[in-house]
Amino acid sequence: MTGDAGRIPAFYRPEYAPEEVPLLARLETTARKLERLRLVDLHAPPPIDPSRLAGLHDEAYLQAFLAGTEPMASRQGIPWSPRVRDATLAMLGGQIAAADAAQRHGIAMNIARGFHHAVPACGSGYCPLNGLALLAHAAPEKRVMVIDCDEHGGNGTEEFAARMPNLYNVSIFGTRFGCRGGTRSWATQVRVREHGFQRYLDALDEAQGLIDAHRPDLLVYQAGADCHEDDPKSQVGLSTAQMFARDLVVFRMARARGIPIVFVVAGGYQQAQHVARLNANTVRAARHVWRGAADGATPGNAPS
Ligand SMILES: [Zn+2]
Repeated sequence: MTGDAGRIPAFYRPEYAPEEVPLLARLETTARKLERLRLVDLHAPPPIDPSRLAGLHDEAYLQAFLAGTEPMASRQGIPWSPRVRDATLAMLGGQIAAADAAQRHGIAMNIARGFHHAVPACGSGYCPLNGLALLAHAAPEKRVMVIDCDEHGGNGTEEFAARMPNLYNVSIFGTRFGCRGGTRSWATQVRVREHGFQRYLDALDEAQGLIDAHRPDLLVYQAGADCHEDDPKSQVGLSTAQMFARDLVVFRMARARGIPIVFVVAGGYQQAQHVARLNANTVRAARHVWRGAADGATPGNAPS
């Protein structure tokens, strides 16, 4: 089901990570680590053709972002530059390529952010264009369900779900960020230090029930690392082992049902090396579920 030697097909190109944008530059650290550990087969996707974005966001915003027309172009929080635009188009190209690869291999990764805060009218929360809703937009004949386990709620994807009949958004978060649940969107706030880890597992169980109720053709997993207990933004407060358990549960949901799954690494605000270690653990969990291999049964390189 996976690539050579059980490695996960993963999409990345250096354009994703302009060094002057720290939030994006750390993707390079993750990509290099995954390559060094031989956890993934890396592929360089072509950038998305902007014509494929027509109708996803409001046209005025899309054109402003493509052309760099201010203040719209920088409204999401990252100062606009041609390199920021090109990074975004490269990552969205990777989303499409990873979704195609997931159809063939069962699973694929885009070493990118999901951009779940971007709403139809504009970018927000450092998210220029919504790469999760994009997959439903690109395949209107398919039901696409997002399992969003970032620290922050997927408010943008929620707004898209309300207007796209083939998009479903399941968000489990510590910080709501405007995500409240609605049409085809389910929002659950869990803070493990207060509620216990079982509550998080219960929320994943509810997600599983939603998969069975709505039978998506594609799962899109936003494997946020910013809900880790050492992350400065974390309210969820997952330990390294709990985050690994989370990843195993999500990948098993897909594998057990034969539903293709594409995943992104999303947020993470610790030192880049620590985020990369957590991202590597997510890939280890994916390999464990797909290969049934013992080498992925526990998280490796735990941040200390
Ligand atoms: Zn986040």
